[in-house]
Amino acid sequence: MKGAELFTEDFKPEPYWWETAKPVDLNASNLTPEADVVVIGAGYTGLNAALQTAREGMSTLVLDAEAAGWGCSTRNGGQVSTSVKPTFSALRRRYGSEIAADILKEGQASLDYMHRLVREERLDCDFKAVGRFHGAHLPHLYEKLARECEAGHPVWKMDAFMVPKEEMASEIGSDAYHGGMVFPRHCSIDVGRYHPALLKRVLEAGALVKNHTKVVSIERLKTGFAVRTEAGRIKAGKVIVATNGYSGPLSPYHRRRIIPIGSYVIATEEIASSLVDRLFPTDRVISDTRKLVYYYRLSPDRKRVLFGGRVSLSETDPRKSAVKLHRDMVALFPELKDIKVRHSWMGFVGYTFDTLAHCGDDNGLYYAMGYCGSGVGMASYLGMRMGLKAAGREMLPSAFERISFPTRPLYNGNPWFLAPSVLIYRLRDKFGI
Ligand SMILES: Cc1cc2nc3c(=O)[nH]c(=O)nc-3n(C[C@H](O)[C@H](O)[C@H](O)COP(=O)(O)OP(=O)(O)OC[C@H]3O[C@@H](n4cnc5c(N)ncnc54)[C@H](O)[C@@H]3O)c2cc1C
Repeated sequence: MKGAELFTEDFKPEPYWWETAKPVDLNASNLTPEADVVVIGAGYTGLNAALQTAREGMSTLVLDAEAAGWGCSTRNGGQVSTSVKPTFSALRRRYGSEIAADILKEGQASLDYMHRLVREERLDCDFKAVGRFHGAHLPHLYEKLARECEAGHPVWKMDAFMVPKEEMASEIGSDAYHGGMVFPRHCSIDVGRYHPALLKRVLEAGALVKNHTKVVSIERLKTGFAVRTEAGRIKAGKVIVATNGYSGPLSPYHRRRIIPIGSYVIATEEIASSLVDRLFPTDRVISDTRKLVYYYRLSPDRKRVLFGGRVSLSETDPRKSAVKLHRDMVALFPELKDIKVRHSWMGFVGYTFDTLAHCGDDNGLYYAMGYCGSGVGMASYLGMRMGLKAAGREMLPSAFERISFPTRPLYNGNPWFLAPSVLIYRLRDKFGI
């Protein structure tokens, strides 16, 4: 299919998840002149932080430049993993065994936190341990995964198993992989329902959430902070910065450390259930060994494929990215060649130079960000920890606070190196290096 044929008549260049819940304007009330804590950003990080501070009795004001949830937290692929990209040996080389192990344990803790949060807060968001199939796109990468699986995990019992190519039909209806590894504990979530359910709990806890209120500066006072917005100034005892890939010029320190990178997703039109069952015999979420990873899954109602990846050198329009994502999806699943695209969208993930999340506190100013495209669990967890910390309830530093937050000379928030990096990754993916 080419051009307009690719799109359904009711195509929408916005997230599929917004069909369930488009980020809405909350009843605007006037800005309060003072708050114990001002949280900047109303995504998973900000809301999980606000839930803690409000429950601890602190007056909590959450501000977002757009509608609450407009950022990555209603645009993602709905795959929930342990969120730590580097391996134990890579982490040990950088930080030593103790911190390496602690980082991996916190990855696990973020997944455990999601289970606890959804259960205890009764969040109706289809959060399920469906498992992940991680496909090897080249034969030697299957061997590499198999060696890792055999060696086991250095910190806890490895909870994964290999699926060779000849048995792969039970996992996925594609010949494009050379087998893969299954992580049974990884989860899926209905992104359209998680954020609104969480927002409801935050409001019930007594926090105020104000939309369309961009923070333009944070000034340190003798005690506390002056938070200046386009709608006025607020005096805050503490501030939590939760702006991740949308951080912009607000905090030069974070801007020099966060690399905003577009990630792109399409949702197809509805597909016949017999074809869905053949291509996706389980409900697992799927990713693969590419550096420019494809991540995909079925919609919660099992009627559409949600297919994501990084398909262009520079940032592009969702109509253009849809053409490339569709082409790549069909390369994996030729039977989807006549299936049209109903939604196409993008969002800015917050990458970091060490591919790790970071959080911390600088005398009353807290932050958590840099989830490198894997933040459903980690943003929720580190947001919660920063909220507890701001409330004086969490004194032990997270492993992500005990490592330095690197930048690079000449980097000022504009990722000028993105296009050449994507090109290099494409070559590495082709040859598996
Ligand atoms: C296409 C895509 C697919 C993804 N898929 C997955 C996935 O499958 N699994 C996974 O684990 N992760 C995934 N992620 C990443 C995950 O969605 C994010 O890590 C997570 O949502 C980050 O939450 P957050 O609250 O930190 O940031 P966000 O949800 O981005 O919220 C930041 C908010 O800050 C606000 N803001 C910024 N500046 C200001 C300011 N000056 N004043 C006021 N407000 C401001 C923004 O308006 C925004 O609403 C994906 C991301 C994208 C874009």
